[in-house]
Amino acid sequence: MTSALGGFLEGETGELTYPVPVFLIEHPDGLVAIDAGLHPELATDSGRLGPLDGPFRVHLRSDGTGSAGAVLRTAGFDPAQVDQVVVTHLHFDHVGGLVEFPNARLVVQAAEWAARDDEAMVASGAYNPDDIDLGHDRLEIAGDHDIFGDGSVTCLLTDGHTAGHQSVRVRTEAGTFVICGDCCYLRRTLVDEHLPPFGVSRERQVVAVRRMGVEQSRGASLIYGHDPEQWEAIGKHGLAAGA
Ligand SMILES: [Zn+2]
Repeated sequence: MTSALGGFLEGETGELTYPVPVFLIEHPDGLVAIDAGLHPELATDSGRLGPLDGPFRVHLRSDGTGSAGAVLRTAGFDPAQVDQVVVTHLHFDHVGGLVEFPNARLVVQAAEWAARDDEAMVASGAYNPDDIDLGHDRLEIAGDHDIFGDGSVTCLLTDGHTAGHQSVRVRTEAGTFVICGDCCYLRRTLVDEHLPPFGVSRERQVVAVRRMGVEQSRGASLIYGHDPEQWEAIGKHGLAAGA
């Protein structure tokens, strides 16, 4: 997508074109997606963005390299066999693709789910009710949560961007990664502690960013929410080298 850089880093001018990542984790006990990305219809109809159509420009491809479901099918996975989708938060660019995971259980912070009808969020277009409540099974959690009970995939509460934002720590043979989500949009968010102009709590956003810093200091590689430079490096050199 492309939108104002000042939406990521308060006070900055110009625009940013950035990735909207989705992750798939293969675990012996099942497939887990982290976030679901953009609604596939956005490839051909930006009107779905509502009030955000214009301020946000979507560059979603309609071939097998676009939506989460299409990318997974291209990679040899069946989205219908994804068991769980861990939702970092309910913004449209993180849950639009839930329609492509019909059999998954959502794992969401209870505070985030409770905010899904928030009038201001819905009126602004940030939460699109048509994306969110599709009747999936749902596990509502409150705070940190170990998905498989083995420490491999752990939800970390990092609220402040939204009421119940969470990040996800993933331990792999290649090392430990933390998928920050939007509590840490860019590397600069962390390094300069440079926050966006909006969010439900500035104070909690600072706590969340610093929590990501602690994870990094303990050896985790951070994967920022929408960092185009990092994503380019990951594309060239792979996740382990790029994060
Ligand atoms: Zn967001």
